[in-house]
Amino acid sequence: MISLTHLIEKLQREHCLRKEEYLRLLTERTPEIQALLAQKARACCEETYGNGIFIRGLIEFSNYCKNNCYYCGLRCENGNISRYRLTEEEILSCCEEGYQLGFRTFVLQGGEDPYFTHQRMADLVQNIKKAFPQCAITLSVGEQSRETYALWRKAGADRYLLRHETADENHYRLLHPQSMSMARRKQCLWDLKDLGYQVGAGMMVGSPHQTMEHLAEDLCFLQELKPHMVGIGPFIPQKDTPFGAESAGSVDLTLYLLSIIRLMLPKVLLPATTALATLHEQGREQGILAGANVCMPNLTPQTHRAQYAIYDRKLSSHGESAQNLNEIKKQMEAMGFTILESRGDYPQ
Ligand code: SAM
Ligand code: SF4
Repeated sequence: MISLTHLIEKLQREHCLRKEEYLRLLTERTPEIQALLAQKARACCEETYGNGIFIRGLIEFSNYCKNNCYYCGLRCENGNISRYRLTEEEILSCCEEGYQLGFRTFVLQGGEDPYFTHQRMADLVQNIKKAFPQCAITLSVGEQSRETYALWRKAGADRYLLRHETADENHYRLLHPQSMSMARRKQCLWDLKDLGYQVGAGMMVGSPHQTMEHLAEDLCFLQELKPHMVGIGPFIPQKDTPFGAESAGSVDLTLYLLSIIRLMLPKVLLPATTALATLHEQGREQGILAGANVCMPNLTPQTHRAQYAIYDRKLSSHGESAQNLNEIKKQMEAMGFTILESRGDYPQ
């Protein structure tokens, strides 16, 4: 049987493995293999991006959500959360602050909030684009019809983040109520790609009932979709959800998956996520060393940050706060990286 080192070399060369091969990488992981994979992933990232790290300003503009995902603190049945939504003026002033700090991408993320109708969102995107024509707009507001995605694209949205969460139908059912469907979520991703968005998919690592087979299936789905961005982070329980007593996902396994994804999709824009930084003091730095090349600090007004409680103890200070960009720059420089103040599009 081919050794793990050979499998990694194959992934590095061909950017593609079979499901059984991903499964072997996942189940036979050792610290030595993980270190080798991280070193190759970092080198692969540097071939395209050198030592540059892109930044995106995250604006969590609404914590209302009509959905009821079992893992998320924003789920509609959570009565223990104080809800908020930002006004268009507040969102524009977050962008202004972000622009002054050096951000050239704004990520508008929220629950599926019926207040933000298709037209209201389109107007918002158009107004941000008018005020900041040099900036990229990333939307992350869940599943919508193809027509809605097309409307927002026409209004000026450049990118869209929609994690597929899990590529396995049975696992999907264990994480979501009957009203939601994996087929629909995957179709949204294909539609977004087709409409010319730079698209981000991804999954939580260590979500309840997840097996290594599920993760191997996730990797195969990413290999097929070829997204421009991949967002992965460990699952972290939120006490007011049905999964409140479950254990958090593994930081090490998340780092290992980041390295695999970098070798599979060499040019992918890969964030070191807040969930990683929440579970480990050096989570962001370790993510970068494992092959990530994006940081997404928070631009949400300080008064609302704690309310966007998708999981418990979510970090929004220090390196996760846009206002501390200088701290992030210094940390990255100390590691030999440079924060880039450009839009950071996917290279053509
Ligand atoms: N509503 C949009 C959606 O679902 O795509 C965007 C907002 S949602 C809060 C963003 C992401 O948060 C989800 O895709 C999910 O992967 C992640 N998330 C939700 N609950 C989480 C938890 N308990 N631990 C870690 N990540 C979580
Ligand atoms: Fe809503 Fe997104 Fe949370 Fe699901 S993950 S409940 S869609 S905010």
